[in-house]
Amino acid sequence: MIESKNPYTGEVLEKFKELTKPEIDDALQSANSRFEKWRKTTFKERADLMMKAAAELRNNKQEYAKDMSLEMGKPITQAIAEIEKCAWVCEYYAENAEKHLSPKKIKTDASKSYVNYEPIGVVLAVMPWNYPFWQVFRFAAPALMAGNIGVLKHASNVMRSANNIQKVFERAGFPKSCFQNLVLGSSKIEDIIRDPRIKAVTLTGSKPAGAAVASTASEEIKKSVLELGGSNALVIFKDANISESVKTCVQARFQNTGQSCIAGKRLIIHESIADEFTEEFVKQVRELKSGDPLDEDTFIGTMAREDLAEDLEKQIQDSVKAGAKIILGGKRDKAYMEPTILTGVTSDMSMFKEETFGPAIGVTTFKKEQEAIDLVNLSEFGLGVSIFTEDMDFAEKIVPEFEDGAVFVNELVKSDPRLPFGGTKTSGYGRELSEDGIREFVNRKTVYFK
Ligand code: NDP
Repeated sequence: MIESKNPYTGEVLEKFKELTKPEIDDALQSANSRFEKWRKTTFKERADLMMKAAAELRNNKQEYAKDMSLEMGKPITQAIAEIEKCAWVCEYYAENAEKHLSPKKIKTDASKSYVNYEPIGVVLAVMPWNYPFWQVFRFAAPALMAGNIGVLKHASNVMRSANNIQKVFERAGFPKSCFQNLVLGSSKIEDIIRDPRIKAVTLTGSKPAGAAVASTASEEIKKSVLELGGSNALVIFKDANISESVKTCVQARFQNTGQSCIAGKRLIIHESIADEFTEEFVKQVRELKSGDPLDEDTFIGTMAREDLAEDLEKQIQDSVKAGAKIILGGKRDKAYMEPTILTGVTSDMSMFKEETFGPAIGVTTFKKEQEAIDLVNLSEFGLGVSIFTEDMDFAEKIVPEFEDGAVFVNELVKSDPRLPFGGTKTSGYGRELSEDGIREFVNRKTVYFK
């Protein structure tokens, strides 16, 4: 049985029976048969249904948001915002998929030559618990609009949300099996990836999970897209607007109780303003209200599981042993971790070199601009970086110096349906969202007429 447990109260919310082998087979068979019909539907037919999915999300956002908050401790206002963002990505692809996938003419010595973008079949999505709806919708909306079929293996601790997502597509009127949730633990995934009815796989989650999924996919010569962890830096140059950048950095680190791949996890500040910046940062973090995820004024909920909070506590303690100093927070109560700030963090400490997936951040200082760039690039991850400066020429000049998949200037790194999203190094490969995202799981077919 797969269990959904409220991390705030410890109460078991629901138990789910794992699918049996014959049930998995039925699900894949029905997905595969659906593909033969679905791929022949028009963009207009798909878009009409996708707009209905958006409306379903908006009309029932309270219901879907509440289940997310109960299952993984997300503050309710942030859960509602997540549902609204899912509606946006559905609308975005309903409006743009046809344009993204229209045939591209290429002039050659042929009488006519072009590239067609055609669906490939059933795509498996292995998804995490931190944004239970968003991570899935940013895959599902482009996949379905491209004419593919989606099957979901969601994180075991958010199975109710996983079922709710299938419900959204059913209520919107999508034909049966266009999108199915498979109630499964991760041990069953290898066989599913190897099944010939699965054509590709996308995973958002940790590096070990990504490596396991990608190696099976590569043995079967199937495409994978990986969106793994990140350890984004927030770099404060000496000319930064301190009050504005503090506000942005607090959001960047502490929203979703710090459990985001693109959260700002390393605060790298020019030494001349480090004291002033840190003082203001501590002041604003102290004001964040912790509490019951279902209360509308809660900003910091519990972490999604107690073991995740324990991992974070260990990273904090290891860094303290190595010489860092806690200047705020540091205490844990079951799945709740106090918002925590450490100073004196150096590049050899856990708080700097590992991904910290919760409400804690370390402060590192630098003297020269090049030193800041080097510190950013030291990370094994390469999802994104935020830089704060008033000098736009300087910002433009240093953009190419960063190894990450995204550079945001005076803004937190955020996903937006219109912009490609993805990382470099151990943050993964491939892109989601925008035109790049919808073209990941299509056959780019070259067509040539003599
Ligand atoms: P995992 O990466 O283990 O889980 C993510 C998804 O992958 C879940 O659906 C999980 O299923 C599945 N999975 C796990 N192992 C395998 C495997 N060997 N083969 C196939 N599927 C697998 O994340 P955790 O929940 O354990 O979180 C641990 C850390 O991962 C976090 O602290 C954070 O650093 C990182 N993470 C990153 C995320 C991101 O957005 N990039 C999101 C979540 C976590 P199941 O739940 O059944 O194990």
